Amino acid sequence: MSKTPQDIFDFASVSDECVKCAKCVPVCTIHRVNADEVTSPRGFLDLLGAYQRGKLDLDKNAKDIFESCFLCTACVEVCPKSLPTDMVIEQVRSDIAKKFGIAWYKKAFFLLLRHRWMNDLAFKLGWVFQTCGFKIKADIDSMNSRFSIPMLKVDRLLPSFKKTSFLNSHPENISNGGKRKVAIFIGCLANYNYKNVGDGLLEILEHLEIDAFLAKSQKCCSAPAYFTGDFDTVDNNAKFNIKYFESFSSDVEAIIIPEATCSAMFKIDYEHYFHDQPEWKARAIAIKEKIYMATEWLQNHTHLEQLLASKKKNTKIVTYHDPCHAKKMQGIYEEPRNLISKNYNIVEMSDPNSCCGFGGVTMQSEKYHFAKAAGLPKAAMIKETKADIVSAECSACRMQINNSMGNKSKTIFKNPIELIAEALRN
Ligand code: SF4
Ligand code: SF4
Repeated sequence: MSKTPQDIFDFASVSDECVKCAKCVPVCTIHRVNADEVTSPRGFLDLLGAYQRGKLDLDKNAKDIFESCFLCTACVEVCPKSLPTDMVIEQVRSDIAKKFGIAWYKKAFFLLLRHRWMNDLAFKLGWVFQTCGFKIKADIDSMNSRFSIPMLKVDRLLPSFKKTSFLNSHPENISNGGKRKVAIFIGCLANYNYKNVGDGLLEILEHLEIDAFLAKSQKCCSAPAYFTGDFDTVDNNAKFNIKYFESFSSDVEAIIIPEATCSAMFKIDYEHYFHDQPEWKARAIAIKEKIYMATEWLQNHTHLEQLLASKKKNTKIVTYHDPCHAKKMQGIYEEPRNLISKNYNIVEMSDPNSCCGFGGVTMQSEKYHFAKAAGLPKAAMIKETKADIVSAECSACRMQINNSMGNKSKTIFKNPIELIAEALRN
């Protein structure tokens, strides 16, 4: 029987349910790079149980431990009791944020995520000044810092900025015949950094003669804030997005999202976040019926697969990485493969389901050494396939995998949407 959020957030009872079978330990991303019992799923659960019973102080050591989970859900997938380790850690991070505060640079980042105009301005300034501090690698939408400073080493690849965001590059309503219509939620990284994803999605909809509504007032889904414990930002953005989606949802068949994390946030995490706000929880549940990952909807609700089958086969080899928020959280892994395989040769890497090691804002800043270590096995298994392209429907995975593969890799990253749009052009 599935657990209610009230059950989930009772840390002590979740902890008591753990039978210490250790099935979760070998798949745990943090345990693989920091093999210590306290940084394993059952270790986290033990500590959370002790915390709720008042036997563990939420001190700096506990904070450090609870912030080392990648929230990859690999443990949940294999746990015979389906214990929601990721969710209880997300919840305790709110207590950590309240007790210790949130670092100034994360606060500044989350403030941007609350206000699109500020985000637009900041990213525009980023585009103007990026060449001063960074060397641009336009072919992979990335850049290297010119200087080594804390958290910004010269060998670290970061996403580069675009002159104009995806949402500011197109009209709000795009007519492709008027028979069908979907809305697009693009997500922050694809909006500002990996713009080809949204452009590709518009091309695909044009081929399918489906109108597009670019939901231009959308705010960040708030996943970066949720994973960091900044629940004020989650509350603000989630309520705004739900109200906004409700305002147009009856005019569209679906709200499609070419991003695993944003999609999982809307479909799954909003409901959990609102576990103690019944009205908002009901609204989050109602709206999720319209939310789909882009490949999920295109595969199951259009004739795209047949259309692709009529196009030329490309000789390029593609290997597909399963984002944790797609396969483990939403069960989506066949759809992108079905569509890509119509025009490309897919060679599977040895463990496509293992986490890329992105881990969120804290992991990419204060705990970058863990993210770096967790990314290396993924980069090695991609290299082994000799693929021309590694694909995943997630821009956070893209940022992490690009960095893990490094500057000299011949394999480039593309979202499946970009590959499909390229296939339709031929
Ligand atoms: S969510 Fe991932 S990193 Fe965190 S405990 Fe589970 S397997 Fe380990
Ligand atoms: S798999 Fe589940 S029950 Fe087994 S040790 Fe891990 S968390 Fe506990």
